[in-house]
Amino acid sequence: MTAVLVVNSGSSSFKYQLIEMDTETTLASGLVERIGELMGTSSHTVLETPITQATETVTVERELPIADHTAGFAVMLEAFRTHGPSLEAHAPVAVGHRVVHGGARFHEPTVITESVERDIDELSALAPLHNPGALQGITAAIAAFSAVPHVAIFDTAFHQTLPPEAFTYAINADLAERFRVRRYGFHGTSHGFVSRAGADFLGQPVDALNQIVLHLGNGGSVCAVRAGQSVETSMGMTPLEGLVMGTRSGDIDPGVLFHLHRRAGLDIDDLDQLLNRGSGLLGLTGHGDLRDVITAADSGDGPSQLAIDVYVHRLKGYVGSYYAQLGQVDVISFTAGVGENSALVRARALEGLEALGIRIDPERNEAKSRVARRISADDSAVTVLVIPTNEELEIARQTLATVL
Ligand code: ADP
Repeated sequence: MTAVLVVNSGSSSFKYQLIEMDTETTLASGLVERIGELMGTSSHTVLETPITQATETVTVERELPIADHTAGFAVMLEAFRTHGPSLEAHAPVAVGHRVVHGGARFHEPTVITESVERDIDELSALAPLHNPGALQGITAAIAAFSAVPHVAIFDTAFHQTLPPEAFTYAINADLAERFRVRRYGFHGTSHGFVSRAGADFLGQPVDALNQIVLHLGNGGSVCAVRAGQSVETSMGMTPLEGLVMGTRSGDIDPGVLFHLHRRAGLDIDDLDQLLNRGSGLLGLTGHGDLRDVITAADSGDGPSQLAIDVYVHRLKGYVGSYYAQLGQVDVISFTAGVGENSALVRARALEGLEALGIRIDPERNEAKSRVARRISADDSAVTVLVIPTNEELEIARQTLATVL
């Protein structure tokens, strides 16, 4: 058996999965949260009978103070010892770490050395909310699993194929160069996974296809994939650009910021907070979760109805834009929480596009399922798919491929 441990660290939490790679089965997964607070929490879920690939799982939860990531890893190891599976019997051959920002430096999975750690640290300048947490997790994981290689998988890496005309902002070129201001794109692990899964679904090589991937979760981004390579994506230098998201505004005229600073007295931190945490669906309705917005809209709430209109309008605009950039489209795939579950968003994002060869079958779209499926009509020139994303599995695959 070959197992890989996948770790996704934030500043005060981390998620993990132990994946058995021969069958690609998640043996255990967990979450350690509120690190550094008075009281932390952990949960550990074990697949009861992995050998038979049963899907029965058991979850155990604890509350205890967790001082830092090192203490968090000790909690995780104890959960494995107490509730299984045994890390002796399923010793990971490598640990894969999700790292949000790899800047222009990292375009592939990278074995973590001290110099790679320094580079990730240095890239914190571009991702102050994300990279420092990842680094703390990496340091603690290396201490806990010192005998195996650790691999960094970057959210930005898949988009390193963006052409200059797609990644360049039209601002002063010297300033942009000095401060590394350009578009990097995010959700790359998911966009890569879903575009390959789309090709697999159709039984065609990924390099024969032009695809548009719509990753719609709490954060959301669109990616145009030509022959397996990202050629355009909606998030930019930071994950703020592009679609309307749970709490982020997405695209906005930068002039709005000057106006709110001058007229409303908001300073730079207020504006950061406003656009990243207080906008999007939350800003428009008071609800950051699309399910709540849909429920409120269904009961006649005007702002919620408008918020859905704005969300879908922006999404459809990106579909049209990326259709034009690609020239011809074979596949459009929906993924992540909203993309996998909301028939309403899928239908509305693509309605009225029959002239572009896009026709959804309403019955297929409404059917609920946890597996990849086609929702386009048989006479639709563009195949529309729903593909559950699995970023942890993709990280594990890339980790294993890097260390083999
Ligand atoms: P994250 O970006 O945090 O990984 P997910 O991909 O899990 O998030 O997506 C979470 C979002 O998916 C939730 O905020 C919720 O709005 C949305 N979602 C989940 N199920 C549905 C549904 N049935 N209808 C509409 N939205 C849904």
